Amino acid sequence: MTDTQANKNSLSKEASLSKSLFLGNIIEENLSPYPKLEGEERETLQMVLDSVDKFMEPRAEDYDAYDEKGEQPEEYINSLKELGLFALIIPEEHGGIGFSNRSYSRAVQQISRYDGSTSLTIGAHSSIGIRGLLLFGSDEQKKKYLPKLASGEMIGAYCLTEPGSGSDAASIKTTAVRDSDGNWILNGEKIWITNGPFAEFFTVFAKTDSEGGKLSAFIVERSFEGVSTGPKEDKMGIRASGTSSVIFSDAKIPAANLLGEEGKGFKIAMAVLNSGRTGLGGGCVGGMKRCIKLASRQAKDRKQFGQSISEFGLIKSKISQMTVDCFAAESIVNLVAYYSDSGVEDYSVEAAISKIFATEALWKTSNEALQIAGGNGFMKEYPYERIVRDCRIFMIFEGTNEILRLYVALSGMKQAGEYLKEIGKSGANIFNDPIKGFGTLRGYANKKFTQLTSLGRERLEFVPDELREEADIFEQYTLEFSRITEVLLKRHGKNIIGKQFASNRIANIAIDLTVGLAVLSRVATMIATAGKESESVQQAIAIAKIFSQQAKRRMNQKVRRIERNEDDARKALSDFIVSEGEYPWDTI
Ligand SMILES: Cc1cc2nc3c(=O)[nH]c(=O)nc-3n(C[C@H](O)[C@H](O)[C@H](O)COP(=O)(O)OP(=O)(O)OC[C@H]3O[C@@H](n4cnc5c(N)ncnc54)[C@H](O)[C@@H]3O)c2cc1C
Repeated sequence: MTDTQANKNSLSKEASLSKSLFLGNIIEENLSPYPKLEGEERETLQMVLDSVDKFMEPRAEDYDAYDEKGEQPEEYINSLKELGLFALIIPEEHGGIGFSNRSYSRAVQQISRYDGSTSLTIGAHSSIGIRGLLLFGSDEQKKKYLPKLASGEMIGAYCLTEPGSGSDAASIKTTAVRDSDGNWILNGEKIWITNGPFAEFFTVFAKTDSEGGKLSAFIVERSFEGVSTGPKEDKMGIRASGTSSVIFSDAKIPAANLLGEEGKGFKIAMAVLNSGRTGLGGGCVGGMKRCIKLASRQAKDRKQFGQSISEFGLIKSKISQMTVDCFAAESIVNLVAYYSDSGVEDYSVEAAISKIFATEALWKTSNEALQIAGGNGFMKEYPYERIVRDCRIFMIFEGTNEILRLYVALSGMKQAGEYLKEIGKSGANIFNDPIKGFGTLRGYANKKFTQLTSLGRERLEFVPDELREEADIFEQYTLEFSRITEVLLKRHGKNIIGKQFASNRIANIAIDLTVGLAVLSRVATMIATAGKESESVQQAIAIAKIFSQQAKRRMNQKVRRIERNEDDARKALSDFIVSEGEYPWDTI
């Protein structure tokens, strides 16, 4: 039995690792052993990675030219089709490669090592454009469209955003009304649609105001009457990828092209984004690996003050941090993809965490790589400025990181709040007796730690001695986290929804706990399978130690800020500035 099979057997599919942290639980069986890709799929993946390298490595100058022009030429897109890159996640029975999310995420990672725009063209098709069809399509719909989507005859796009509706996705105005034949008439405009200029297959969300819900999803072909696209947008980054509006003017959509159930469009829209997050995460990891390669070579080659700049402490601090962040992002992205592949029922909070962490890690890493290159970093002749421009969008699209932080905090607290309510109903009445109720969440939760420590904490069993001190940090802060969750819920009740300063802190602790546990799991498994003698494993242990100590300091600060903070002053200051409409001070 492979590691992966062993892991699948013990995996708890009902429980969410991240949501359980809010209750003071660490779901140990979902952390150990850390998953590893084995067998035939690994071989196929290796073939795809090799062909990506062979095709993309010699094209660095082309990518600069496409960026400058803001376009990928048709012949280039055709080559991507021939390479099979539009077929990655489509099942073999429909002409695709049939990759799991883990292999797909890894393939996107490889593409991103060479070019962010190419990665986005492939990612918008697979991660979000056609995913609704894969997840919710009928057999007929799949039979009809998937072979064409695999060959690239049709490229997919995902159409949710509108001029008046970005983060507030439920407020879209595009309408779909049934005509007398049962077909649908679509009217409205979608904006900033990736692949919009050349996609033939659009997953479109529109208002149907059905009994079961306000939105529905549709499969729309470019060839349908009344469908058109606007001019290509001129963008800051990922400039070569195509972005445009998609317009529906009395567009006629056959009844058979309703995707999933009528009225379930919002659920479909969110499920697609959730399931697609590991593609974006993989792209971030690929971008970081590229930055680390560039930065380490630059630091060695560049001499100042008579020595390589890699000899300077400030440069070492950057390269080590870039490496820790990349390892951590890779650990959580791969773990989330594994949950998705293994049928874990609810991994939406983990997926949001992986997107937030990976996109921000890439942003910091690319910025540091540019800094290490000094003035060269700023010049178009070198790759850094484009990498920085290309990765800025990741923190904005597929759910802004602000919205995702709120999602992480509120989803976790909602579950914790439901437990508290249940306990309240059953007579413990914790809301009226804060002292008696203190620690209720922890007491109520179904404990998953296995050994009790002398401090009354329970211990993670999978962690070897080398990482015991680090495991202590996550055990201790998981309990602390459930305590402050409870304090906030008792203090604010449902009003917690409006307490964004507090929610942000909660989300940031959830991120550090989840990512830190993923890192511990990965390094513990490395030690168990490869031993701890090699330099590579020793350095991985060091990464786990660095990340854990940094996370401890961040979490400690967040916990303290729950009670003592400047939130009211900061809110008032922001209100003042917004009412002034400018910065009102000067020194003259
Ligand atoms: C290059 C590019 C490609 C894109 N591709 C696609 C695509 O293929 N398909 C598609 O449907 N869309 C696409 N988008 C749209 C993208 O998903 C949206 O830009 C994104 O969802 C944010 O919406 P918005 O730009 O309207 O920002 P807004 O929602 O107006 O947000 C503005 C700011 O306010 C913050 N904010 C908003 N609400 C809250 C709140 N409740 N609490 C706290 N802060 C809040 C946001 O985080 C953000 O910082 C793309 C966008 C770009 C730029």
